[in-house]
Amino acid sequence: MRIVLVGPPGAGKGTQAAFLAKNLSIPHISTGDLFRANISQGTALGVEAKGYMDRGELVPDEVTIGMAKDRMEQSDAEGGFLLDGFPRNVSQAEALDVMLKAAGMKLDAVLDLEVEEDEVVKRIAGRRICRNDSSHVFHVSYAAPKTEGVCDKCGGELYQRGDDTEDTVRNRLDVYHTQTEPIIDYYKAQGLVVTISALGEVNEITQRAMDALQK
Ligand code: AMP
Repeated sequence: MRIVLVGPPGAGKGTQAAFLAKNLSIPHISTGDLFRANISQGTALGVEAKGYMDRGELVPDEVTIGMAKDRMEQSDAEGGFLLDGFPRNVSQAEALDVMLKAAGMKLDAVLDLEVEEDEVVKRIAGRRICRNDSSHVFHVSYAAPKTEGVCDKCGGELYQRGDDTEDTVRNRLDVYHTQTEPIIDYYKAQGLVVTISALGEVNEITQRAMDALQK
């Protein structure tokens, strides 16, 4: 299966993507994670991306599309993939269509995670992520770790993403509405969009997503 996950920052895309990719036995490809890995390795791509990310802006398409394409062309993605955070605007969606068409492939579904704006800001401001594994996500009040600052799952250090501050979150939401939301109509025109509510327990949402994808 080839799936795109969309939803505002804080909808739980990363958390759901990790579970869904595991259930469906396909790789989870997150452009945000790829950028963060480049930043921590100090690559030229990371240096270029960092300023945009810190401001909550989109990294330019020239950089992003090439990076996503390289990842999708790796052998583990031959049988399918779950894209998390890509495409994030209509020109990236068009580039993805061109890429897939050239390879004789197509998308199977676009899963749209719906959540209210106030909830998003609360979720993101309290979000803490494990340095060892970005799918180990906690929240200072909703899902607090047993020991502050320590991942329950692997003992890794928990940190707050530099772009999870309230100002940057507001900017990321604006960017989502103006640049990313239009891809939902773009994919609706192709009959690919499945919308589910992203409210509730993590495993409930995963089940909802699996049911919706199976339909
Ligand atoms: P995420 O982890 O998906 O929330 O992404 C974090 C940040 O990485 C975003 O706010 C953007 O600055 C950048 N980013 C991730 N994916 C993309 C993309 N497809 N296009 C442009 N910028 C991106």
